[in-house]
Amino acid sequence: MEIKQLLRDLPKIDELLKEHIVNNELNFTMRTIVVETLRETIDRYRELILSNSIDEYSKKDILKSFLELLEERKGSRLKKVINAAGVIIHTNLGRSLLAKKALENVVNVVDNYNNLEYDLKKGQRGSRYSHVEELIKKVTSAEAAMVVNNNAAAVMLVLNTLCKEKEAIVSRGQLVEIGGSFRVPDVMSFSGARLVEVGTTNRTHLYDYDNNINEDTGVLLKVHTSNFKILGFTEDVSLEELVQLGDEKKIPVIEDIGSGTLIDFSKYGFTHEPTVQESIKKGVDVVTFSGDKMLGGPQAGIIIGKKVYIDKIKKNQLTRALRIDKMTLAALEGTLKYYLDEKEAIENIPTLNMMLSPKSEHKKRAQRLKRKLQSKVKNFKFALEEDYSMVGGGSMPTEKIETYIIKVDNNEFSPQELEKKLRENKTPIIIRISGNEVILDVRTIFDKDFDIIVDAFVSLD
Ligand SMILES: *Cc1c(COP(=O)(O)O)cnc(C)c1O
Repeated sequence: MEIKQLLRDLPKIDELLKEHIVNNELNFTMRTIVVETLRETIDRYRELILSNSIDEYSKKDILKSFLELLEERKGSRLKKVINAAGVIIHTNLGRSLLAKKALENVVNVVDNYNNLEYDLKKGQRGSRYSHVEELIKKVTSAEAAMVVNNNAAAVMLVLNTLCKEKEAIVSRGQLVEIGGSFRVPDVMSFSGARLVEVGTTNRTHLYDYDNNINEDTGVLLKVHTSNFKILGFTEDVSLEELVQLGDEKKIPVIEDIGSGTLIDFSKYGFTHEPTVQESIKKGVDVVTFSGDKMLGGPQAGIIIGKKVYIDKIKKNQLTRALRIDKMTLAALEGTLKYYLDEKEAIENIPTLNMMLSPKSEHKKRAQRLKRKLQSKVKNFKFALEEDYSMVGGGSMPTEKIETYIIKVDNNEFSPQELEKKLRENKTPIIIRISGNEVILDVRTIFDKDFDIIVDAFVSLD
């Protein structure tokens, strides 16, 4: 049929509202949603007609599409996606995935009443932080610990407690922006601390700190520049030197270590990344880090260090606004438990497992996915190649993890078009484009999702 005719024949909203299926739907669903969905359905048909993708349709087709679209709209907007991009701690895709025990702990705690703020021994009001404090102390060897919403909140709380209306001395080379929303200078000004920048972008010396210490100095702050590295003619003051200076002048040394690595990755062939335990051992007074980066747990900000300071921080009224909820606590406890045995942690915490699982394992998995794709999809070519995955989350910026990828080739879609199509799949598939090629990195794809990927390509075939 002619395009004009097809367009003219598209039913009107009022007409569709009279259809039994639609009318029935109005018994359960808000009218505005039904009308919006009808409009969107018609718009989609109009597009299909204009792009010559269909040359006929029936009212039945339209009603079927309407029901599908309505189903989609009633479903969750926040939903599962498949990470085929090979970035392990993908900030846009929810960072770390929870380990099994963490998930079980969450379900058990939120599905029941619990002792969130109840001391079962004394039979009286308890502290929500007590549940994880002992565990954090054990794992990190710190004297005391406290947990808040995220690491940005942790840094702000620490500075607000120890450095309000005082000066925080920090190296110019560490005034970083992380993930587009954490800017060290901004967080410092929210906290009420005055920023004193010392040194230069590439070189800061101990005397730069020393020369700026006065009666207004509140803390010496070190920020781990987790998402970039300055190479070449650089000089930085070591943690040991800073701690020594702080000790001499009786000024606490605070470290925002960012990623919060509890495992020494150099044992597994990575370049050395400072661990939380090392900072404590070197005598840093207060250390803060994220729960959902390299630690592999829920979003949280963990504050550890000397008891005198942590006690002060716990008493700050701001904690009430920054406190974590029971789901986070349950997830954090479940995650930290694994760290009592490093092997258990690596095996069970998805972030660690994805980082450390051997390349050979992923070769087999990539071969399996490729075979599945080739057996069902005709118009795409799939090639197995070696490549690199990234840690992500502003962690280990220069570290490349060897992996296997599937390169996708076809004559119909450009890489950008294919990226969009896969992103618009019912379960969105997020890929990476390298050069001019679409790439699926199996390191961050689960076996259980292979069939979803195959089906997505089948529907584009
Ligand atoms: C990621 C990061 C932050 C922010 O942590 P969130 O948990 O995302 O709030 C702060 N400082 C450093 C050094 C970081 O790497």
